[in-house]
Amino acid sequence: MKKNLYSRREFVKQNSLAGIGAAFSMSMPPAFLAVNAGETSVPAIMGGNPVRNQPWPVWPLWKPGEDEDQLLSSIRSGVWSRANIVDEFEKKWAETVGSKRCLATVNGTNALIAALAQYDIGGGDEVIIPPYTFIATAQAVLMTGAMPVFADTDPETFQMDPEGIEAKITPRTRAILPVHILGLPSDMVRIMEIAKKHNLVVIEDACQSWLAEIGHKQTGTFGDAGCYSFQNSKNIPIGEAGAIVSDDEEFMDRCHSYHNYGNPFGTTVGDVGAGTVMLGTKLRITEYQAAIGLAQIKRLGEQTDKRWENGEYLKSRIGRIPGIIPYKLYPNVTKAAFHLFPFRYKKEEFKGLSRADFMRAMSAEGVPCMGGYRPLNKMAYLAHAFNTKNFKRMYSAEMLDYKRYMEQNQCHRNDQLCEEAVWLFHNILLAEKRDMDDIFNAIEKIHLNAEKIKNRT
Ligand SMILES: *Cc1c(COP(=O)(O)O)cnc(C)c1O
Repeated sequence: MKKNLYSRREFVKQNSLAGIGAAFSMSMPPAFLAVNAGETSVPAIMGGNPVRNQPWPVWPLWKPGEDEDQLLSSIRSGVWSRANIVDEFEKKWAETVGSKRCLATVNGTNALIAALAQYDIGGGDEVIIPPYTFIATAQAVLMTGAMPVFADTDPETFQMDPEGIEAKITPRTRAILPVHILGLPSDMVRIMEIAKKHNLVVIEDACQSWLAEIGHKQTGTFGDAGCYSFQNSKNIPIGEAGAIVSDDEEFMDRCHSYHNYGNPFGTTVGDVGAGTVMLGTKLRITEYQAAIGLAQIKRLGEQTDKRWENGEYLKSRIGRIPGIIPYKLYPNVTKAAFHLFPFRYKKEEFKGLSRADFMRAMSAEGVPCMGGYRPLNKMAYLAHAFNTKNFKRMYSAEMLDYKRYMEQNQCHRNDQLCEEAVWLFHNILLAEKRDMDDIFNAIEKIHLNAEKIKNRT
């Protein structure tokens, strides 16, 4: 199959050089000439041969021989509720990210809620969040009773723009919740400066960002606490699980107590024999989840380096195609984790071919991609939350005026980003460097054939 692929490419290459290659040499840099797909080739969406007909690496990854010893012995032991393996997992994750402590939780959403709750963030408080994130970020804030306030996105980096944060601070603001969205680090240095100046708590949503670094320090370790997700699609897949990390021992003791019905833990103790000491819930993970997690963490470093290398290579290649604008990193970033690989698609440079059709054409060429988030500041869950009994008791009618809220929380740059973004899933970056060229070739083929694809019947 591979042999066929190459010979077909060779054929197309010859054709394109002899044919329309010359016309392109006038306006394109030389690298653009090394194309495999010319106008003579038929887009796969119109019945042509796809650029790629091999599968991408599977996700999640599970290697029975290497991964199962601890998992099987935990299952066979009958010790399934939280015990030694969960302790081991927490110790391992704290070490891995460079934090003093780690607490494993049932998921990332509840890691965020637990962390916010330990800073007594709740009814009447405001928490600044980006609109370009997974829904769980906003829901976590609402679940504490606090009000999410949206600060606009920098479309170049896909991250919350520090420039817009200060204008959103009011006397009610208690915390900033930056999200290292897509696994690309947010501008933590500037966000920490702003937080310090205004005496705000910072909880990092690192639920897509494992081992990403700013100045060789990991995301999740800049703020008062960092939260992670190990849901099945994430770069550490456990099915469901999450974690909180922090260097603050007392905070971590409170988190531990909270995750275990409020029972005493460490410094969180009441009078001897007083029983349960604080408000809490139940967020513990099982021993077998921790065993799966430990198996996944073993290969995380190598996988992250590969995604980072392939991501930067792919960026350097596709960035040359008109209308494709890859992510930008802040200058102090030393590693990105790439839960997703993002770029912006400018249809003006593709003869007006819609993003939806571009993505359909990409999938047909063997490179599946997604359009990403819709604006989180414009969805019905907000009105629903404002209409709950709790919110009506905690906030004035003015603060719950939905129209007013919507006006104050407009994020125009984010709206546009949501129209233009295209994502590749992180498993694609686990392929080899030469496989990244397939992605370049697919985009370029669509670029060359944009008019034809747009007008297809
Ligand atoms: C996945 C995710 C979460 C929530 O994690 P779960 O484990 O699914 O609860 C929170 N924030 C972001 C940015 C995420 O991607």
